[in-house]
Amino acid sequence: MKAARLYGPEDLRVEEVSEPGSPGVGQALIKLGAIGVCGSDMHMYGTGAIGGERIASPMIMGHEFMGEVVSLGDQALDGENQNLRVGQRVAVDPACPCYRCECCEQGHPNLCPYHTFYGVYPTDGAICEKMIVEARNCFPMPDEISDAGGALLETLGVSIHSVDLGKLKVAHSVAVVGCGPVGILIMKLALLMGCREVYAFDKYEWRVDLARRWGAHEAIKVEGDQGVELLMKSTNNRGVDVCFEAAWADESIQQAAEMTRYGGRLVLVGIPPDDQLAMRHATARRKGLTIMMARRMKHTYPRAIKLASGENPAIRLDEMVSEIFPIDKAAEAFCKNYAYQEGVQKIVIQP
Ligand SMILES: [Zn+2]
Ligand SMILES: [Zn+2]
Repeated sequence: MKAARLYGPEDLRVEEVSEPGSPGVGQALIKLGAIGVCGSDMHMYGTGAIGGERIASPMIMGHEFMGEVVSLGDQALDGENQNLRVGQRVAVDPACPCYRCECCEQGHPNLCPYHTFYGVYPTDGAICEKMIVEARNCFPMPDEISDAGGALLETLGVSIHSVDLGKLKVAHSVAVVGCGPVGILIMKLALLMGCREVYAFDKYEWRVDLARRWGAHEAIKVEGDQGVELLMKSTNNRGVDVCFEAAWADESIQQAAEMTRYGGRLVLVGIPPDDQLAMRHATARRKGLTIMMARRMKHTYPRAIKLASGENPAIRLDEMVSEIFPIDKAAEAFCKNYAYQEGVQKIVIQP
């Protein structure tokens, strides 16, 4: 079968690999339907490493995905403890926590130090034709969620977890720095939760346009510190109750801290390219900011599916998909995403 494997910096190759065998106990073999390309994939693609983890041998990329169940091992219970069935379309949570350590037992499986993650070295990901996954990571999807939309449930799950960390309250004011898929979804969730004055900032026009279409009260294209100036002006120098950094976590972290009000909450979602977090100490200290670091997600797929389901879904994931590539063109898809060419929002690969 075909698979897209990363060999090193900017070296993604589509090649023939052997098919997976049969699913074991508690596992499912799925035929991949759609895989999203993520900002974190871009870090791995650009540097051949993420968070200091270097790729030591070719690895199949892709952690945002859905597929159709082809066969099942014994005791294949899905993420909601129901029997999985052959033919079901499922979205797959890419994280495999150990479920036994202190973090897992205390309800923080997203922090499990022993977890593996599909598409993060050394575990192969989903840009391929077939794959064995843990059944409990599978969440059956209703028909109205498209394959491409299903791949975005991971992004929505991460966004839900980020918003949970923000402890939003009705009528809170919110700023989102970075209007990539996660930023836009956070913004939308804030609106759904009854936040007022929801600001969104990005340096790319097309991303700002999407934020505006999705209902941001103010969506503004900014360079450098412009966003801070604009926001402080709009809020009468108060800042917002909760600010989300969902960009590249470079100078955007300081900007996000400056946008947060005294005593406010700052949620850091973006991942910095150089693994350094830089912020003026005085900004955070004088304001007494509560700073939360978002790490993956918890059991958020069921909520993500609810938001994307129904005749009139609260969140239309398909609108986020900017382009679909066949697997043969996976390298081109990564290259395009890496260059942030005009119009790139969420690129999806369909085998
Ligand atoms: Zn991702
Ligand atoms: Zn654990």
